[in-house]
Amino acid sequence: MSSLQNILRIIPDFPKPGIQFQDINPILRSPKHFSESIKLFEKKYQNKSIDIVACIESRGFIFGSALAQNLGCGIALIRKSGKLPGPVFKETYELEYGTDSLEVQSDAFKNNDRVLIIDDVLATGGTAKAAYDLITYNFNITIIGITFLLELNSLDGRQKLNDIPVFSLLQTDWHLFKTLTTSKKFYFDLICSSIIRALSLGGKNSRSLSL
Ligand code: AMP
Repeated sequence: MSSLQNILRIIPDFPKPGIQFQDINPILRSPKHFSESIKLFEKKYQNKSIDIVACIESRGFIFGSALAQNLGCGIALIRKSGKLPGPVFKETYELEYGTDSLEVQSDAFKNNDRVLIIDDVLATGGTAKAAYDLITYNFNITIIGITFLLELNSLDGRQKLNDIPVFSLLQTDWHLFKTLTTSKKFYFDLICSSIIRALSLGGKNSRSLSL
């Protein structure tokens, strides 16, 4: 697992300030690492009789389709609104500001299909929960689990998926370390806030001393 962890890259402040973007492209560029990730997923799910891997747009498509090939099953695409032709089911979910929607074609699953949901990153869990609600509400299927390449532990997305078996290849303890070592802005902010705190503490102490 460590080689996968080492090759992942964090882009600070992308796509907006404050977000530590988990860039999985170095894994995709490397046949060795990409195939390592797919083999690890395969090892976990090979004996679970999965019928369909439900892949969340867009990076879920990449891992899901390779995994489905290895498991010998098909994929279903869970896409942002307006991308899928024909009759679709829709699920709208809350974002920090506003709402978003996911859709799936109405013939994406057969009755009693055993389904694995996949995406690249588990952050707050809102997207994965919406995908789960979308397909369990509209189809008579069994969810075997939800799986991710990487889980951002600090955001506790698992808590939104409480009753569903969740499996992530990588977790974010190391991510925090990498963030600390790669983000100059982080160091700058840390030093500034420490100075400000020290100054304000100093102020409080001198006031209390003078009382
Ligand atoms: P969430 O609904 O918050 O769990 O977000 C999950 C979706 O947003 C996934 O499809 C991820 O690809 C993407 N995402 C969220 N946060 C990040 C991040 N820090 N780095 C990369 N992708 C992210």
